[in-house]
Amino acid sequence: MRVVIIGAGLAGLCAAHELVGAGHSVTVLEKSRATGGRCATRRIGNATFDHGAQFFTARSDEFGAIVEQWISLGIAREWCRGFGSGDGHPRYCGTAGMTTITKHLAKSLDVRFNSLAFEIRAEGDTWVVILDDATRFSADAVVVTCPIPQTLSLLVHADIEVPEGIRTITYDKTIAALVVVEGATNVPEPGGVQSGDPVFSFIADNQRKGISESGALTFHANASFSEQHWWNDVDATHQLLLDQARPWIGDATVIEHQPKRWRMATPQTIWPDACWSYQRLVVAGDAFAGPRVEGAVLSGRAAARQLLA
Ligand SMILES: Cc1cc2nc3c(=O)[nH]c(=O)nc-3n(C[C@H](O)[C@H](O)[C@H](O)COP(=O)(O)OP(=O)(O)OC[C@H]3O[C@@H](n4cnc5c(N)ncnc54)[C@H](O)[C@@H]3O)c2cc1C
Repeated sequence: MRVVIIGAGLAGLCAAHELVGAGHSVTVLEKSRATGGRCATRRIGNATFDHGAQFFTARSDEFGAIVEQWISLGIAREWCRGFGSGDGHPRYCGTAGMTTITKHLAKSLDVRFNSLAFEIRAEGDTWVVILDDATRFSADAVVVTCPIPQTLSLLVHADIEVPEGIRTITYDKTIAALVVVEGATNVPEPGGVQSGDPVFSFIADNQRKGISESGALTFHANASFSEQHWWNDVDATHQLLLDQARPWIGDATVIEHQPKRWRMATPQTIWPDACWSYQRLVVAGDAFAGPRVEGAVLSGRAAARQLLA
């Protein structure tokens, strides 16, 4: 089977591995120039930031076994057992940032970067994926792993009735600030704060987390702040976040800072099955098996199994 997968995030890459492992020919199309999607790691000078997903847990046996494999490959490690009081459950991260995992997964795959899928059409028994530069990829099967609104726009001419429960999935936004610092910050061990701040849903000291050579703080504004300020002036909102971040920065010196905005950060509702399919077109991603790293991985694998069945 020739399969085209749209998206080199965790769902797409995990689907690709399953299908390649079963002997199929797979091409992954990714609009950006790197893997990871919402598992994103960015460098500013010597500072390294995880600025999408911060960590992951393993709630299912299936994902637990995958995490064990990632750890033995040296691409993931346990970060801590909780933030603040600590509940004893392991929190994992990529060894040198979350994209360590997706970079590794992509290594053995045919991933085409800077390839923005624009349209999916059925031509007889064949699916055709057309890029924005009119390049065409023909396939026996397609797996689409973009956030749902982007998936729907690809399917406008595909003549497919997507269920309303999927069509209406919307996403929380996240406004983030990345701050390069010098000196000790007030972010406590283990380098993450998950609750107790009125504006931030997560604060990370990436140096203390062990992924950054120099001081690097990630601040994620919570969903209600991000929604309220999304359409406001970007610089003014960024300054507001920096003011709010001040107590966590403490006496450290701010060297540089950048805003980052995730328009489709977290699906607000989740489709009850791990993927959805129509003939040999499968829609997958974290809107299916859960709004987190684990959900994306399980959904990608489920999409592959659906095609293999
Ligand atoms: C700010 C933030 C914090 C988070 N924190 C956590 C956390 O701490 N723990 C946790 O478990 N989860 C967290 N998550 C959620 C987690 O990141 C996601 O659930 C997971 O990464 C989703 O993976 P995915 O493969 O489903 O989608 P994505 O990662 O979004 O991958 C989709 C890919 O498709 C590509 N794409 C989109 N449209 C096209 C197109 N037309 N053509 C080609 N390519 C396209 C995108 O560029 C992207 O690479 C967080 C997410 C965000 C945004």
